[in-house]
Amino acid sequence: MAFHLSFFKPGQYIFHGGERSDRAYIIEKGSVEILTEDNSDVIHTLSSGELFGEMGVLDQSVRSTAAKAKTQVTLLEIKPEQITDRLNDTDPIIQALIGVLLKRLRALLPKNGDTPDADLLSHVATVIEQSGLSKFRLESELRTAVNSEKVQTVFQPIVDLSTNRVAGFEALSRWLHPKLGVISPFEFITLAEETDMIIEVGSLVFNRAIDLLSQLPDSVFITINVSAKQLNSAEFLPAISQRLADNDINPKRLKLEITETMMVDIKQAAQWIERCHQAGFRVCADDFGTGYSGLQQLIDLSFDVLKIDQVFIRSVLTNEVNRTLVEAMVTLAKKLGMQLVAEGIEHEAQHKLLQEMTVDYGQGYYYGKAMSISDVLAQMSQLFSD
Ligand code: C2E
Ligand code: CA
Ligand code: CA
Repeated sequence: MAFHLSFFKPGQYIFHGGERSDRAYIIEKGSVEILTEDNSDVIHTLSSGELFGEMGVLDQSVRSTAAKAKTQVTLLEIKPEQITDRLNDTDPIIQALIGVLLKRLRALLPKNGDTPDADLLSHVATVIEQSGLSKFRLESELRTAVNSEKVQTVFQPIVDLSTNRVAGFEALSRWLHPKLGVISPFEFITLAEETDMIIEVGSLVFNRAIDLLSQLPDSVFITINVSAKQLNSAEFLPAISQRLADNDINPKRLKLEITETMMVDIKQAAQWIERCHQAGFRVCADDFGTGYSGLQQLIDLSFDVLKIDQVFIRSVLTNEVNRTLVEAMVTLAKKLGMQLVAEGIEHEAQHKLLQEMTVDYGQGYYYGKAMSISDVLAQMSQLFSD
């Protein structure tokens, strides 16, 4: 579902009073007049970046105003679900507050030639704008980007520290935005997780990972980051299993990374891991050491791989406490039969120290940044020759 732009000529009505409120709009270009229901007065003139038409969508009532293009305008349409799904997910008190505000706002709308309270209206407009308008636009753009494959998947090498050879890759997402450039997954993954788009982003990632796995030697693995919504979806694991089977790939070559912050509900986490194991996948505890989980949780959950978070590696040479913590993680992981990956290795000295500590794998800019599938394939003979 791509986001939809609509265009209006000066003087053309966008909607009339009394019509069904089937969408809201953000003005991309031009200016729009909001009129009283009977078109007799201009209440407000809105320009680029502003939202309108959301009131009827919020309380599912008919339009209590009319909207007319003042100049040539381009509008970005916001679907009711984009607003109402979020509203349904919010605290009931916030829902009630929005209800009250809407009622007050409607009472303020001029009827029969009254003059509107321009100050209050502009204040409300500012509040609405600051409360995530740009997010709506970004969400729509992300949807388009996912559909047109502008969300890319890159692969960062993971090196076997006993042989210094590339043993696998972590799949990471990148969004190439036409105006904003490369947007970090820290920003858009959270946005995607708030909606169901993470499912679509996730399928892009695993389809590409499987595509790459089918072209790499059998000994090479790929790890992918998964979100709670994916793991909670009944179709997720069967879909990957099917794709792997179709391509004749052993599921052990695909490892699923779960961040420590996803493990707040230990029973839930145990279930996820169990289901992944049943499907034949290995499971990694990502960003280990930064979340809430304690040692007991780690012992209770049967992870196959522990990824030591970058914060510990960054200062492993200079900070005695962090170095002791890394040593403790190594001892613990070995006792529990888990493999270890140290993330964020940038310097040779860190690489050497972690090698001495008998950490199994290293990942970081020292070995290489994430690269496109075609770069991985072009370097294949270098990466995997004997
Ligand atoms: P992560 O899983 O911890 O991934 C490692 C991050 O550290 C990546 O950032 C990687 O580029 C960066 N990195 C690797 N080596 C070094 C290094 O030596 N130094 C430094 N400073 N950074 C290094 P990136 O790609 O920006 O990803 C950020 C996070 O976004 C990831 O953290 C992961 O949690 C999430 N993410 C990325 N792609 C996906 C995805 O497709 N799905 C989901 N659910 N999450 C994703
Ligand atoms: Ca990860
Ligand atoms: Ca990590």
